[in-house]
Amino acid sequence: MITPQIENDLKAAIRTIPDYPKPGIMFRDITTLLGNARAFRRAVDELVQPWAGAKIDKVAGIEARGFIIGGAVAHQVSAGFVPIRKKGKLPHTTVRVAYSLEYGLDEMEMHEDGVIAGEKVILVDDLIATGGTAEGAVKLLRGLGADVLAACFIIDLPELGGADKLRALGVPVRTLLSFDGH
Ligand code: AMP
Repeated sequence: MITPQIENDLKAAIRTIPDYPKPGIMFRDITTLLGNARAFRRAVDELVQPWAGAKIDKVAGIEARGFIIGGAVAHQVSAGFVPIRKKGKLPHTTVRVAYSLEYGLDEMEMHEDGVIAGEKVILVDDLIATGGTAEGAVKLLRGLGADVLAACFIIDLPELGGADKLRALGVPVRTLLSFDGH
């Protein structure tokens, strides 16, 4: 657990844009947190605190905000970084998985040699909502034989059930703060 003080400081660094990108969505904008040196460092430190001292081979980040946070986390834990991208963006041979969005399906990819079987991987993104995106990422990583140690997100939207969905797959989940609603 993180202290209520840290949770409040991080929460205060996130900007909420109502009705973006469509009516009814409260968009949790982390660019304000990223632009705040203290909050950014604190978020990165806290995300991986339970795995301090553990041997982590790779951090996998989900396009696009997961790249920013995941890159910083990878540096922090002295691990490599592997990008998980929307289909068609990666230049080398990829593995692909379909994942569910609020309406319909999309596909994401990673390089087939992005992780090696048996490597210990932490998955990172900015926010977990329904968990469809992170579930797809876990499938890709496990499909290549990775040992997914945990999935870490700055923000949880618990009413949407994503963190519980990942835990049901046997993936420990770490989130730093939560918001009610969508
Ligand atoms: P999901 O697959 O439903 O868990 O959605 C997670 C992905 O959608 C993450 O990459 C988030 O960045 C993005 N996302 C979903 N809901 C929001 C929201 N309310 N504010 C900001 N980003 C969101």
